[in-house]
Amino acid sequence: MRIRYHVAALALMGALTVSSVAVAAGPPPGAAPAIGAPLSTLLSRLADGHASSAALAGTSGALTLRVTDAGRVYVAPVLAELSGQVLSAAQTGHVPLSVTPPAPTAATVRPYLSGGGFSLGVWLQTWGPLILLTGLVGVSAAALRMAGGGRFRHRVRPVVSDTKFDDVAGIDEIRDDVAEISHVLAKPAVYRALGATVPKGVILHGPPGTGKTLLAKAVAGEAGVPFFSVSGSEFVEVYAGLGSKRIRALFAAARKAAPAVIYIDEIDAIGGRRTGHASSGEREQTLDQLLSEIDGFRTDPAKPVVVLASTNRIDDLDPALVRSGRFDRKIAVGLPDRRARREILDVHLRTRPVSKRADPDRVAAMTAGLAGADLAALCNEASFEAARAGDTQIDIGHFRKALLRLAGGPERRSRVLSREERRLVAYHEMGHALVGYMSPSCDPVERVTVIPQGHALGVTVALPTEDRFLATRTECMERLRMMLAGRAAEELVFGECTSGAGDDLKRAAVLARHMAGDLAMAEPRTDESLMVALPQADGDQSAHDVETAAQILVRTAFERAMDMLVCHRDLLENGAAMLLEHEALESEDLATLFGPRPGVSRLAPVSENA
Ligand code: ADP
Ligand code: ZN
Repeated sequence: MRIRYHVAALALMGALTVSSVAVAAGPPPGAAPAIGAPLSTLLSRLADGHASSAALAGTSGALTLRVTDAGRVYVAPVLAELSGQVLSAAQTGHVPLSVTPPAPTAATVRPYLSGGGFSLGVWLQTWGPLILLTGLVGVSAAALRMAGGGRFRHRVRPVVSDTKFDDVAGIDEIRDDVAEISHVLAKPAVYRALGATVPKGVILHGPPGTGKTLLAKAVAGEAGVPFFSVSGSEFVEVYAGLGSKRIRALFAAARKAAPAVIYIDEIDAIGGRRTGHASSGEREQTLDQLLSEIDGFRTDPAKPVVVLASTNRIDDLDPALVRSGRFDRKIAVGLPDRRARREILDVHLRTRPVSKRADPDRVAAMTAGLAGADLAALCNEASFEAARAGDTQIDIGHFRKALLRLAGGPERRSRVLSREERRLVAYHEMGHALVGYMSPSCDPVERVTVIPQGHALGVTVALPTEDRFLATRTECMERLRMMLAGRAAEELVFGECTSGAGDDLKRAAVLARHMAGDLAMAEPRTDESLMVALPQADGDQSAHDVETAAQILVRTAFERAMDMLVCHRDLLENGAAMLLEHEALESEDLATLFGPRPGVSRLAPVSENA
């Protein structure tokens, strides 16, 4: 098992998908005709403060939301259960909302008549939430009026950032680049005197969780200037002209507060390549506005506004955005290497009691592939593990457990397996562990369990000890072998196989196809097998060849795993018995059980080997 997970960034706006039916309610007499709109759209226009007023009213059998925006009235039907969302959207956007609860007239009551009588219970269920709301809205609308809550203003309020470069670890390679930006902001006159033009736009690009937002905050924090932060996703799925209006408001506020930093997270949401489709007209309008703001804010060189933006898809950005004079500086923020991970861990362990036995270097070594945000989450989870265990200091065991928990979900000891199933799981996992242990280039096995965790009934966890940027053919084959060893153990011991190996087989197929197709590691090596097929050239034939070659790789690896298990059958039996008794075995237990692990010399020239 490899650990690779990322905290997904949820795009909050637009996450709400409320389907709406065609609008039935007609316009009030004398008013302009109302325009039907999806409820989700109206809710976002309320939440972002664009609408000028709103009204929620009951008509026969349904509630109708009317939103007035730029002189037009939009309507959508609302289920009574969703009236709370209307209220909170109006509160978020500081839009006055009036509510008219329906009177229990014959028309509204009739559908709920049961057995010929009027049922107050049903009536309350349907309209109760709305009536309660009326009181609440009255209060909040009054409070808002007193506070003078203007629309928009909350959106463009900057924060004072107290983040410093010291809080961002492992960025030695880009430290000078970002530090320069904050110097420019702090002392624009110095740069101007030397004729240096202040950078306008800087793109920070790299995988999620690598600290791009943190860096932007640190730039503002070090320079001591206001920090305006928005996310590109706030500009999508908005109505006519709203996106560009917001951009204008944002830059106007930043210029007023200048020198300042504007940070646009997920810029690809607005700055993606233009398609020319009518459907993306709104987004393009937003992008055009952004471009013209950037081109235009040459205004006062003594008070610069620097726009930092982040993306994890730099190649998808519209060329117009990254042209010189706009976002013409790009800073790559990559996944941290081992030393950087060590430094990031230090930052997050600064305020936590860590035992002397917990070597952060070891933690850094076993977290290859994790981003800074993952490491921050790991440190927090390790604190929890220590607290759960009633310890006062964080130890290496807590880190290990935290990693396992983050990678595979919490252990579920409450799920009870039958005796037979537990036995089968024990052999399956011990098969992985034993073959992994005996395969010198596999990552060392840290823990084997027969404790259900996430979707699995047991787990074998191997963690890396160093960062590897290349994978040798031997390493790929040994990894494949270890993946298939669970199934091999089932067949060897029970003469039967189970559905439990499904995931293993899928991952093995992916790896084998990758080896045979993209890496030209097929076996036996033929002249053709060195040639990576172009996807478009004779697609069927080359896909077929790759499939055949991948099958051979999988079969070879499976047979090799089976051989190893047959050869070490006694270790497999002892290991499974011990695992059944203790539920979980750690790396030290395995070392005692299996004896010394075969060593490996990786990538030594063949002549030296001889
Ligand atoms: P991104 O914007 O690249 O998705 P963030 O800046 O939002 O990532 O990172 C989320 C959190 O992860 C930060 O608030 C911080 O706690 C932690 N983090 C990420 N990278 C680093 C780093 N280089 N040094 C210290 N902490 C980091
Ligand atoms: Zn398995």
